[in-house]
Amino acid sequence: MTDTRLEPKQNGKAGTLPVNEIFYSVQGEGRWAGHPACFVRFNYCNLGCKWCDTKFTWEAGKVEAGSEMLPDEISVKLKELISEHDLSPREIHVVLTGGEPMIHAERLSQLVISVRGAGFNFIEVETNGTIMPTDDLLENISWWNCSPKLSNSDIAVTKRIVPDVLRKLSETARADFKFVISDHDDINEIEKEFVPIISREHIFLMPEGETRDDQLTRMGWLLSKCSEHGFRFSPRLQVLAWGNERKK
Ligand code: SF4
Repeated sequence: MTDTRLEPKQNGKAGTLPVNEIFYSVQGEGRWAGHPACFVRFNYCNLGCKWCDTKFTWEAGKVEAGSEMLPDEISVKLKELISEHDLSPREIHVVLTGGEPMIHAERLSQLVISVRGAGFNFIEVETNGTIMPTDDLLENISWWNCSPKLSNSDIAVTKRIVPDVLRKLSETARADFKFVISDHDDINEIEKEFVPIISREHIFLMPEGETRDDQLTRMGWLLSKCSEHGFRFSPRLQVLAWGNERKK
């Protein structure tokens, strides 16, 4: 597959992060589905999956400009967002997402300090599980939502599965591993490649499908597969609510 990824640029201002967007919504997937959350989406990814729905964060020609922001500037923006909704930061999760946020791991520690200082005490990270987080992040991130990629991503196995990273996240006991499933082959692949590395009870399966109808069609089948294999099921609330429309 041709690599169409844009390489992260060095920015002029030291310590800034390439923010694509910051918005208030609800967590759509996994253990915290339905919880109100502020999302901070960063540009760039180290993989480039063929079906990625956030190509606007990494694909050459599609990357949206975004802004280079200092950690404290991001915290101020988060506080502004929740004050518009008359909410306290303690009630709201902050979700660091991308792209692949671990590309910026060194600078994220400072952001975590800043965000906690602003009163937010629950910080989630969404990662593809191929870049080792710093010790500092392993200790201070409240929950890891890891989405390792299957062969249907068209990414070489040595690039998309990094066992040491998956093991490290699993050892925190504050990590779930989410997979989008289209057929039984995907489930077999999880049993073969991932169950030996990560704990089964932290594996969530979600139905593949870009529309509400696609999701609903697979849901019954996938629920029965989850109970058969001892995995957990997660809806994809954003697709059920809005289909493939990009919503915040
Ligand atoms: S790892 Fe995630 S953000 Fe990166 S290309 Fe794959 S789906 Fe998209």
